[in-house]
Amino acid sequence: MPIFRYYFKSNLLMRILTALILGAVLGLIFKDHPKVLAVLAPLGELFVRLLKMIVVPVIASTLIVGASSITPTQLGRIGIKTLIYYTITSMFAIMIGLGVGKIIQPGLGLKIASDAAAAGKTAETPTVIQILLDIVPTNPIGAISGGQVLPMIFFCLAFGIALSFGRDSQDEQIKHGSDTVYAFVDGVSQAMFKIVGWVMQYAPIGVFALIFGVFAQNGATAFGALASVTTSVYVGLVLQVVLVYCVICALFKLSPLVFLKKVRPAMITAFVTRSSGATLPVSIQTAQNMGVPKPVYSFALPVGSTMNMDGTTVYLGVCAIFIANAVGVPLDGSQMITITLIAVLGAIGTAGVPGAGAIMLLMVLESVGLPVEAGSAVAIAYGMILGIDALLDMGRTSMNVVGDVAGTAIVAKQEGTLDEQAWRN
Ligand code: ASP
Repeated sequence: MPIFRYYFKSNLLMRILTALILGAVLGLIFKDHPKVLAVLAPLGELFVRLLKMIVVPVIASTLIVGASSITPTQLGRIGIKTLIYYTITSMFAIMIGLGVGKIIQPGLGLKIASDAAAAGKTAETPTVIQILLDIVPTNPIGAISGGQVLPMIFFCLAFGIALSFGRDSQDEQIKHGSDTVYAFVDGVSQAMFKIVGWVMQYAPIGVFALIFGVFAQNGATAFGALASVTTSVYVGLVLQVVLVYCVICALFKLSPLVFLKKVRPAMITAFVTRSSGATLPVSIQTAQNMGVPKPVYSFALPVGSTMNMDGTTVYLGVCAIFIANAVGVPLDGSQMITITLIAVLGAIGTAGVPGAGAIMLLMVLESVGLPVEAGSAVAIAYGMILGIDALLDMGRTSMNVVGDVAGTAIVAKQEGTLDEQAWRN
């Protein structure tokens, strides 16, 4: 049928954007027609269910493949320094994300109600010690099947690292076994991304139905909420550049201005491709132009493009606050701590492909007692984010890549192997 052919041939981003605008306009027009909302609601619910279906296998397989791709020999001095840099900058990113969210308070005043169970459960408030202890699962399979984020991340990372030792082993049998498991998990992750691609084909319809519900319930106030969450994310990203990368460059006696000038090609490529993975060749070239030697960038950039996601971390912090505000359950201190841990570790489990951060956001919400259940207020607020996700993804992917490139330059400088001549022209 021509309509289907047109649908699948047209650009996905344009389709999602059109769906967003159409959903908003029609939602405003049919504000007082609950019957129309009732007919469209299941289409939105279907989208939420499809996303929830893929979230655990995508994250678990990405984590295992990511962790087992680093060989123990690579994890020498350069490797350790790179990982330390990645962890520190991610910690700053989540603090910036949560800080900006707390100040701008996106979504406040938006009263999203739901027909199903209300605005998410109020989370219990465990102590910090308990939060930390709970990271270690007593039953890893239970943690994975129950979608418990931190325990799942912990186990998958341990499993991935163990696998990388096995793949590096001198013992043929261990090496063969580990390589086989790696190939299997890699296959699982490839298959999962195929499914993600299919689910995304449905995204315009799902986004349309979800946004329709938001505007039918909230009227024009929803525009302000979308604008404030977008502004918050971009303010957070700019602060990450200025307060983190520029300051670190200055601390290591590298000119922040030269850095910003040289990093531009990678930044722009990431902005348009929305994929750290796809930007990798340009990031490598950018690092070379900065005088970073091969031993540093050949480790830091591929690992960074799958594991170091500062932009995504900022986004997770801001969006968690937005959704909590939108459903009227503001986050408390212990939920903030949980988000900090999950966002930093979760970014590792976010693949460097378009839209992966939005899948991670599902997990973050789940872990602070705001599960995205079909028909719930949280699902509707989450749908709002999905409607503008492409816009947010561009900015956060750019920042993910800028963070990786900054890391290579800093580690090289610290190692004394950076060709500083490259910074003078
Ligand atoms: N698109 C991002 C990247 O490739 C990941 C994300 O969706 O947050 O880095």
